[in-house]
Amino acid sequence: MLKKTVVAAFVTLAATGAWSQEQVLNLYSARHYSTDEALYANFTKTTGIRINRVDADDAGILARLKAEGTASPADVILLVDAARLWKGEVEGLFQPVKSKALEEAIPAHLRAKPATEGGTPWFGFSTRARVIVYDKLKVQRADVDTYEKLADPVNKGKLCIRSGSHPYNLSLFGAMYEHLGPVKTEAWLQGLVNNMARAPKGGDTDQIKGVASGECGIGVTNTYYLARMLRSDKPEERAIAERVGVVFPNQASWGTHVNVAGGALARYAKNPANGIKFLEYLASPAAQNYFADGNNEWPAAKGVKVNNPALQAMTGGSFKSETIPISAAGMNQVKVQQMLDRVGFK
Ligand code: FE
Repeated sequence: MLKKTVVAAFVTLAATGAWSQEQVLNLYSARHYSTDEALYANFTKTTGIRINRVDADDAGILARLKAEGTASPADVILLVDAARLWKGEVEGLFQPVKSKALEEAIPAHLRAKPATEGGTPWFGFSTRARVIVYDKLKVQRADVDTYEKLADPVNKGKLCIRSGSHPYNLSLFGAMYEHLGPVKTEAWLQGLVNNMARAPKGGDTDQIKGVASGECGIGVTNTYYLARMLRSDKPEERAIAERVGVVFPNQASWGTHVNVAGGALARYAKNPANGIKFLEYLASPAAQNYFADGNNEWPAAKGVKVNNPALQAMTGGSFKSETIPISAAGMNQVKVQQMLDRVGFK
């Protein structure tokens, strides 16, 4: 009788997992948005898997993974920008994931190309557009409605843009390479250099401010920086954002360049099943809203609606985005960097 009770108790404990190790997920994240807390808490609530998080910037995470090698505790890695995700992939820091749920949810052009051994090395979970802002008094909208026109002599002395080697620009230029080919892309980059109002400096927000202050006629920025200013509780920030015009370029041709923030399973994940579960969770409609809206981005998963007033206002509802594989933009970055060196784009 006593023996039976003990056995029953053992079975119960084993089934609830109380005797097994606590379920954990080690997350290395380059995201730092307060709304992400709810995203993680909800995962733990529904799965019982506790998340240990390491926050660092993208370059710091990639360096840390390399240094840790096989001993790395990382299970899942979240990075912003396709150029960085691509870098992690080619440096062998990820392991391809085979997941029907992820393949169904995330469109093929917003994830890595399948690896030779099968599976997908990384997935985009949100999208951001790289748009043109302009001085409504000095610049004609029709003169900046395509990326190509940024290089047109009509815009001489007007362009402000951050460093050409920044991943956001490398991805945009890598996409241009995909659309235009090498000869036209290099000529285009030379045209951008010729049109600069000042040497590249600052981040995207600084280009928006440069346009608002009159120093620049034209700026290039990711949409969430502008949305962040439009939604700011500081009236002076809202005023700056409202002063500039915004164009989603190339609506009449291939569409506006769109980049991703995304995630991957770490090469030496110690809890790979939990890692895949987390990636699948990120693609679910509920998580997609937290993930995208927290940084004023668009969900990457199919059929998930957006309720972001700043994004609505900016686009007037919707816009045409390019459909080239975002992995190609990452892949072209080495060739593009060589062009930047040749044309003197710092
Ligand atoms: Fe950013």
